[in-house]
Amino acid sequence: MKGSSHIGVDIGGTHLRAALVDEEGGIDRHPVVKTAEQNDKRPEALLEKLVAACRALIRTAERAGRRVDAVGLSVAGKIDRTAGSVLFSPNIPWLNGYPLAGKLQETLDVSVAMDNDANAFAVGEAWKGAARGIPNWVGVTLGTGVGGALFLGGRLWTGDNLGFEGEIGHMIVDPAGPPCVCGLRGCLEAHASGSALCRGAREAIEAGRLTGGALFDLARSGGLTAEAVFHSAQSGDAAALALFERMGWALGLALASLFTVLGIRHAVIGGGVSAAWDRFIGPLHASLKKHSSMLDPETAEILHAKLGDDAALLGAARLAGLGSGTGERS
Ligand SMILES: [Zn+2]
Repeated sequence: MKGSSHIGVDIGGTHLRAALVDEEGGIDRHPVVKTAEQNDKRPEALLEKLVAACRALIRTAERAGRRVDAVGLSVAGKIDRTAGSVLFSPNIPWLNGYPLAGKLQETLDVSVAMDNDANAFAVGEAWKGAARGIPNWVGVTLGTGVGGALFLGGRLWTGDNLGFEGEIGHMIVDPAGPPCVCGLRGCLEAHASGSALCRGAREAIEAGRLTGGALFDLARSGGLTAEAVFHSAQSGDAAALALFERMGWALGLALASLFTVLGIRHAVIGGGVSAAWDRFIGPLHASLKKHSSMLDPETAEILHAKLGDDAALLGAARLAGLGSGTGERS
């Protein structure tokens, strides 16, 4: 055998993506697999698809004379790493409590690790992306929700292994703010996520601030998406622009607080909604400047993630021990 590869898998609400990753971070992607068929939302059905994708990748590795030593799974939600199960996933509720990693390990006879998707993102960006060589930083993923991770001293922060850590999305930036899916009010996620953009557009319509145009029509037909809000902002719609300004304000406020607490000055922001970078980065810096109490805000570096969807695949493979020799997170 010429070397060791790991499989990295990113399991989302509707699709799973898997890839073979080598020690250098070389990546060979399996075609995207649809997971949540309307009539078949069962953990066993997901396991079957996962096994099929992994077996195909194992065959690919063998053809290249390589062996697969481990599989790393990235899943959104609260994860029990030790048990290899999902405690609570907002996107895949039917997976809650299911020992997915253990079942996959039994079936494939290969070691399987599982972690939160934001942690996998951060480990991927630290290994091959925007955070290479930066020992201390905050990772933020902007998608339907807001995910977060902390890298401290060159390692992923795992706290007391409570099943969550670095959850910047649930930092409260405005106690009187909009409700959050977690049950509290005014979390960062309630201001800076794709869902927050859609809810903000609906509120703008109800308040009469948005009275026409493509966004108005989409909201009325139930087809509102974060992307549609972005396109409206790009074409100069004031209500849409205000939503991105609020996103930047909330991100700047949360990062300023974290930088002060931790004595650090770097953040890496990724996720699908971060494609709207130019719309929120100005307000983010303004807010960071306004809310920084100790740090000179001019020295803060807010970086755009580089790896896109590959970050979670590389990170999941790395979390399963690839390239680190000892299985340590580095
Ligand atoms: Zn929350």
